[in-house]
Amino acid sequence: MRIAIIADVHANLAALEAVLKHAHGQRALDGVWCLGDMVGYGPDPGACIQLLRQYDPICLVGNHDLAALSLLDTAEFNPDAAAAALWTARQLNDEERHYLEGLPQVVEEGDFTMAHGTLRWPIWEYLYSYEAAMAHLQRQETRWGLVGHTHVPMLVVADEEGQGCQMYYLEDGAAVQLRQGRLVINPGAVGQPRDGDPRAAYAVYDADAGTITIHRVEYDIAATQKRMAEAGLPPRLIQRLSYGQ
Ligand code: ZN
Repeated sequence: MRIAIIADVHANLAALEAVLKHAHGQRALDGVWCLGDMVGYGPDPGACIQLLRQYDPICLVGNHDLAALSLLDTAEFNPDAAAAALWTARQLNDEERHYLEGLPQVVEEGDFTMAHGTLRWPIWEYLYSYEAAMAHLQRQETRWGLVGHTHVPMLVVADEEGQGCQMYYLEDGAAVQLRQGRLVINPGAVGQPRDGDPRAAYAVYDADAGTITIHRVEYDIAATQKRMAEAGLPPRLIQRLSYGQ
């Protein structure tokens, strides 16, 4: 069984299509797990929801999904993100809104626990710091965890005694051996990478091999930027896609 693990699609249809095509080439569409923020920032929220739903994914809710539903106060967003959230809210039809409203904050699936941010604060907290990683691991009852939200591919491995952990950035092609113990993986962002590599990021879970492998996929960035400009989305959000920041 091979599963595509995606996060932070952010309404970037060109990136989502490229990732799903790549996953198809990897024979990795026995399932799709989506770690939240399907919408927000990008120009095609409805189309991304429709496309992803064809794969009957396990899907979590993220902060930008809640903001698009007006279930989260955007006062804590930066002005560009808040403007994009307001725009997104106007694009969604009732069915798309209903779908996002039904998404859970945390899901356990086999040996995995999934959340958008961390298990301490699933919607908001970034799993960047050592302290956040330890707080997350203390709440993770399964061996393995999956998170998104930072838009940076990363691995956290718990020490055997559970008293500490090691944190690593993951590059294209990095294959994590799951048997090494309790760990957390962030597959990076499909629709708005922030590690300086503008290519879309996702991961493939190979259940038979016991690995999760990070992949970076080229997509038509200019096509997404053109759609964003047509929609009148903030210029800074358009430009950052070129730099993966
Ligand atoms: Zn996000």
